[in-house]
Amino acid sequence: RISLSGVHKRFGDLEVLKGVDIDVEPGEVVVLIGASGSGKSTLLRIMCDLERADSGEVWVGGVPLHDRKRAPEIFGHVGMVFQQFNLFPHKTALGNVTLALLKVRKLSRAEAEERGRAALKRVGLADKADSYPAQLSGGQQQRVAIARALAMDPAIMFFDEPTSALDPELVGEVTGVMRSLAEDGMTMVVVTHEMRFAKDTADRVVFMDGGVVLEQGSPEQVFGNPAEQRTQQFLHRVL
Ligand code: ATP
Ligand code: MG
Repeated sequence: RISLSGVHKRFGDLEVLKGVDIDVEPGEVVVLIGASGSGKSTLLRIMCDLERADSGEVWVGGVPLHDRKRAPEIFGHVGMVFQQFNLFPHKTALGNVTLALLKVRKLSRAEAEERGRAALKRVGLADKADSYPAQLSGGQQQRVAIARALAMDPAIMFFDEPTSALDPELVGEVTGVMRSLAEDGMTMVVVTHEMRFAKDTADRVVFMDGGVVLEQGSPEQVFGNPAEQRTQQFLHRVL
């Protein structure tokens, strides 16, 4: 589970997070929405320890990330997928997926390839193991990036606008994989503008505004009957 309380973050003079409290239960799928600059990516980066909160408590998977001595325990226990796929162009799909298994987990090549192939199969790319990123569509590349994260067997997956770099017709194959992970019980925090994914898959939608959680609830509540005017205005713009 994830539990953040009173999280503040500033970049120079700019206070980006102004006291964020958020809890995510095991197996829950939380979709973060909000205007550009509202702090969604910063919050996600803090939850996967790519960024440090200035104050507040950040518990992820039993690890107190605010305790810098213990924070490294999170390493390898969370998976991250970003807008940019960040695949190595000179490595095949399987080569990309097995890299951390070999270098970080120190698995044998046979073990790494077995796990890597299973992860590629999980995202529907069993037949693309030997393809290079340039030979794959954007949607396939993003699915390789998801497989790379899954191969590490994470307890929690974070996604930051995973479909924003994709042509519209390729979005569905990526959100489809994400939905099937959700159905398998993966704990997920997803920043996305794909409101259909949010409606179909989120257990909870969290609306961020100006560095705070302004409103949260089931997709039906937040989309169908938002309590806050700021939420209504935002949804009016994006829906
Ligand atoms: P978007 O929807 O555009 O991705 P966001 O909600 O993800 O927006 P963040 O990326 O968290 O927003 O950024 C929040 C604010 O913090 C923005 O004003 C941004 O310019 C600023 N910011 C983010 N990272 C840094 C950084 N490393 N240094 C300085 N300012 C930053
Ligand atoms: Mg962002």
